[in-house]
Amino acid sequence: MDIFAAFANKLPAQLLSPGSFFSIYALASGLLIGFAYLALRQKRRRGHVRLRPLARAFFRRGLLLHRSTRADLFYLFVNVYLTAVFIGWACLTVGPVADAVRNALTGALGPRPTSAAPDLAARALVTIVGYLAMEWGYWLDHYLKHRVPFLWETHKTHHTAERLTPLTAWRVHPLDSLLFANITALSFGAAMGATRYALGSAATFAFADVNILTAIFFYTFVNLQHSEVSLPLRGLAGRLLMSPAHHQIHHSIDPAHYNSNLGNSLAVFDWLFGTLVVPPRESPRLKFGVVEPGVDPHSITELLVSPFGAVARALTPKAAEGILTIQAVTPPMNSAAPKSDEISA
Ligand SMILES: [Zn+2]
Ligand SMILES: [Zn+2]
Repeated sequence: MDIFAAFANKLPAQLLSPGSFFSIYALASGLLIGFAYLALRQKRRRGHVRLRPLARAFFRRGLLLHRSTRADLFYLFVNVYLTAVFIGWACLTVGPVADAVRNALTGALGPRPTSAAPDLAARALVTIVGYLAMEWGYWLDHYLKHRVPFLWETHKTHHTAERLTPLTAWRVHPLDSLLFANITALSFGAAMGATRYALGSAATFAFADVNILTAIFFYTFVNLQHSEVSLPLRGLAGRLLMSPAHHQIHHSIDPAHYNSNLGNSLAVFDWLFGTLVVPPRESPRLKFGVVEPGVDPHSITELLVSPFGAVARALTPKAAEGILTIQAVTPPMNSAAPKSDEISA
């Protein structure tokens, strides 16, 4: 396959690869779970199920044709066709990090001991360690981006989405992706180096080359996290797992929700470090976005170009003055947007 065909094939590969979070299979699975949840909720509240409101929760004009959603679509192409190339030469990769960690451990502790763990147990352990390492890398990267002003400027683009659809996952500035790729490569690579040293293997249980635990997340919650269907987990489950409602709270413009729920599929790191907001019993009527006076958050300039200047300005000595809470620099959004929970019911 020539280089142009490989390039053209990038988007179909995302949509058709079963290991992609954005595959038609993962999207359909998330949709089914969302439909089933809303149908059960409707049945419990009203005693019957009406299909029209269920369909409108996912497929209504005001959501799909909103400028925010169209900007997300623009970013889908930016990320699939440009950022992937950019990241390819600008970031650490897992293999060399894992090798360096394994060699360092061998140098410090001597040749690896022979593992007594049977193959299946070792594989299960590596699967869990790899999953936790990716989750930790995600949380740490996300925490830093919500706490450090110049890093927030790389991440703010994601939060300027005023409507949430699965496309919003693509609304990520290349600088944000670059930092994410490096931090997760360090975290995951270090874990894989350690397991190779300790167990002689980095083999995991996988589905379509994706860690099986991550794949389960892809086929359940990941695409519902960027939707306006408030599907909450509470109690112990809400402290362990990041339900769609958790991530919607993360996008909320309510100051009480700023810098909360930073995890990917796990809520445990937020629970441990005090950044967890478990969805309340009454689903909150959330509004999403970051609105700054005189700024159009969905213009190509604001989406793609301005973050470079904002990062540079935030790195100047005077920049952080007056910024106490990163998301607090943004004033309230106008209230024209429909309430998410009104529609999703
Ligand atoms: Zn965030
Ligand atoms: Zn998000």
